[in-house]
Amino acid sequence: MTVLTINTPDDMGALGARIAAQLQAGDLIALNGELGAGKTTFTRGLGEALGVRGAVTSPTFVLARTHPRLDGAAPLVHVDAYRLSSPVELDDLDIDFERSIVVVEWAAGMLDGITETWLELQIERPSGGEPDADEAEPRTVTVTGHGQRWADLSWLG
Ligand code: ADP
Ligand code: MG
Repeated sequence: MTVLTINTPDDMGALGARIAAQLQAGDLIALNGELGAGKTTFTRGLGEALGVRGAVTSPTFVLARTHPRLDGAAPLVHVDAYRLSSPVELDDLDIDFERSIVVVEWAAGMLDGITETWLELQIERPSGGEPDADEAEPRTVTVTGHGQRWADLSWLG
């Protein structure tokens, strides 16, 4: 487990880019944290670093969006699991996990039986995201590796 302090949206994007550099087909990143925590901001930075075609935006109304890569490498599949109620529903999306890099927003409780190996980011605002809190407050990001693939997180610094 590695705990990082991320001060700005740009830094959150840069964290996405740093993690993107480690990714290959079959990898899954689970993002948790309240609305406005920075999950999509992270995914945007990750997608830019992967060289995906098309802007990474909040997939809220599509459940899953596939972004092909400009170099033809494994596509980024960006999932918003907010409206899903079980792993079975995630499974029903028929995502080609083996050949894709998958990022799942609102992943908590959705991965049982889907994968045994994933990298999890919990993004927290010190205010807890209360309505009148400053949106620009620094985020605490707790990165946890699940499975042998992510046993060593020393590259995160
Ligand atoms: P989520 O996908 O978790 O709902 P978003 O990434 O869509 O969250 O929104 C996060 C918002 O907070 C963006 O408007 C972003 O610019 C802002 N923000 C301010 N500070 C930070 C920070 N340190 N890290 C990430 N986002 C931040
Ligand atoms: Mg989002």
